Amino acid sequence: MATSNIAGKIVVITGASSGLGESTARLLAAQGAKVVIGARRMDRIDTVVGDIAAAGGEAIGVKTDVTVRKDVEGLVQTALKKFDRVDVIVNNSGIMPIAPLVALKVDEWDRMIDVNIKGLLYGVAAVLPAMQKQGHGHIINIASVLGFKVLTPGGTVYSATKFAVRAITEGLRVELKTHNIRTTAISPGVVATELPESSSEEATRQHLRDFYKIAIPSDSIASAIAYAIEQPATVDINEIVIRPTAQEF
Ligand code: NDP
Repeated sequence: MATSNIAGKIVVITGASSGLGESTARLLAAQGAKVVIGARRMDRIDTVVGDIAAAGGEAIGVKTDVTVRKDVEGLVQTALKKFDRVDVIVNNSGIMPIAPLVALKVDEWDRMIDVNIKGLLYGVAAVLPAMQKQGHGHIINIASVLGFKVLTPGGTVYSATKFAVRAITEGLRVELKTHNIRTTAISPGVVATELPESSSEEATRQHLRDFYKIAIPSDSIASAIAYAIEQPATVDINEIVIRPTAQEF
């Protein structure tokens, strides 16, 4: 097992049952981090935990719905009870049901706001007291290139949630400097994950599948997250944007 500035760190990751959350959990654990991972699909979480343990790493899985504040508290408390601190949280859970505003998929707007914004804020609320007490910490929030540009038609509410993620991360950056807590917003372009499947219309999913032909592997985002974590404590990487070379926006 490699030793690095990542080895021994306690890292909480939401949405680690698939995609870039799962890749990040596997990569960080391989580099010696102790990962505490949550999502709703416990069968998938159990597989990731089992694979990490089989490879000699350390991982704990906790069933977590990020729209339920006590679930997110429970995830972080599991890390604190076991390891007595949380060095890093990766607020990664997210959904992207794409549809034009005029389709009035109000339930999907609600869910995106609940998962992508409120779920992330619950993660922040769960770690902040411990990180302030510890005198250090690192909050990594997964935003998107659609947090820089509104994808229309279809992606308006998703983009709004990702603009919010970047705004929250910038606010945290300024507020938490004096607490020695680092903040990083990671903004990926298209990454090969299950995300496009979260749209409710088959025609939209098909369109996204075509668009995702240029997608880059989730390992590339995991590597960027690892890079931000492994910097010396005095180095605060605040924004990382990663796109496929072929992606225009
Ligand atoms: P996936 O669909 O593969 O992963 C999404 C993760 O979020 C899953 O682990 C899922 O777990 C979790 N999740 C969804 N709803 C909830 C919930 N209510 N509570 C807890 N966890 C939840 O997609 P990605 O890996 O691509 O997505 C990860 C992040 O990356 C998201 O924030 C997404 O917006 C962002 N992103 C992705 C891009 C891409 O092209 N793939 C581009 C830019 C940003 P479960 O269903 O088991 O609960």
